[in-house]
Amino acid sequence: MEFKIPTQLKMIQQTVRRFVEEELVPREKLLPPLSGDLDPAVFADLVKKMKQIGIWNLSVPKEYGGVGLSWIGQALVNIELNKSLLGTIGVGLTVMGEPPIILYDASEDQKKRYLLPMIAGDKMYCFAQTESNAGSDPSQMETTAVLKGDRWVINGRKIFISGGDRADFAIVFALTDRGKKARGGITAFLVDKGTPGFTVARQIETMGGHRPSELVFDNCEVPQENVLGKVGLGFDFAQKWIVQGRLLNHPPAAIGAAERCLKMAIAYVKDRVTFGKPLADRQAIQWMIVDSAAEVHWNKLMLMHACYKADMGKEVRHEAAMCKVYASEMGCRVVDRVIQMHGGYGYTRELPFERYYRDLRRSRITEGASEVQRFIMARSLLRGYSPLDLLAE
Ligand SMILES: Cc1cc2nc3c(=O)[nH]c(=O)nc-3n(C[C@H](O)[C@H](O)[C@H](O)COP(=O)(O)OP(=O)(O)OC[C@H]3O[C@@H](n4cnc5c(N)ncnc54)[C@H](O)[C@@H]3O)c2cc1C
Repeated sequence: MEFKIPTQLKMIQQTVRRFVEEELVPREKLLPPLSGDLDPAVFADLVKKMKQIGIWNLSVPKEYGGVGLSWIGQALVNIELNKSLLGTIGVGLTVMGEPPIILYDASEDQKKRYLLPMIAGDKMYCFAQTESNAGSDPSQMETTAVLKGDRWVINGRKIFISGGDRADFAIVFALTDRGKKARGGITAFLVDKGTPGFTVARQIETMGGHRPSELVFDNCEVPQENVLGKVGLGFDFAQKWIVQGRLLNHPPAAIGAAERCLKMAIAYVKDRVTFGKPLADRQAIQWMIVDSAAEVHWNKLMLMHACYKADMGKEVRHEAAMCKVYASEMGCRVVDRVIQMHGGYGYTRELPFERYYRDLRRSRITEGASEVQRFIMARSLLRGYSPLDLLAE
């Protein structure tokens, strides 16, 4: 067993770290306090720089002209990116630009129309599954798609869709067989912006930078060529996408944020004197630091192990749930302690903590709330699953 990052990956990690320190952190003041919408010119400039230094399309396989980074590599990069508020957590750098894993399962024609333009940076997508009465349990969705002649007609509403306002196309999940529901009755459709009957009804303000949209499908017709995968297999696609996000988005966001905030706290408490002594000398403060560092540490190890399994082609649904729930809860706890150690200054908008605090809170709800992740884990453990099976082999 080796705990070592391969040299090439180490170099990528260091390049990203430098980019974050030199380009992202200085631009954090440009982020509007209540939204993640960077000025498009600033966003485009950052993307251009990322492309120039070779840290764009990292997840894209080599045969598609990308870097073909492993899951471990992607997790490490996302940890680094989230040491700025402009990383994946606040602004969606990389996450919004890189194609979702499920587009690689698309037909050749769909790859030309959706995957390749995404890789080129010409298109963005959104993932439209949640409905007002079907969030944690998407099998209860009521949006329907009915085949009329050679076209599918979609009717329904989707809520909380990240990037829905900016997306060039939506991956929309709809009921195609009410009797079967999640077991073969849900299908994924590729729906272009501007398709008659498809509108963005509103953007929803949240406590963080995210402003997800409500989407409406009113007799929205799409051709049969826009079925992603096979009719009835939409739920499997959605699960594949969600597992990727649970591992590569939420835990790295929490770990990156916690590492940065904790580092700032350690520097601060050595300097800040109260009642004649630096805060760092107080056991109450030391315990906050120790507990936070240990929590970051085990979450990172757990994430690396899960990504290692994913890189070996193993099923990681359980691990993804485990990493998401513990990392997202850890991130909120650590940032909370860091705010406490900074006192009044920690609560201000002059330091990044309050923004991290608001943005990280989302991770405990989206792509499966903590309670739902625990339910997924309990189900697999009670069936006899052992997440450490690789060590036992
Ligand atoms: C900022 C943001 C961005 C989002 N982006 C997207 C997106 O891009 N695409 C998309 O499709 N969806 C998106 N969502 C939706 C998100 O995935 C859902 O909000 C989430 O799955 C929870 O569903 P719900 O809000 O309907 O809560 P509910 O399902 O009503 O659950 C409410 C609460 O009840 C608890 N709970 C639920 N089930 C159980 C259970 N079995 N046992 C115990 N407790 C339970 C949990 O604490 C949960 O938070 C986004 C949401 C937000 C807030």
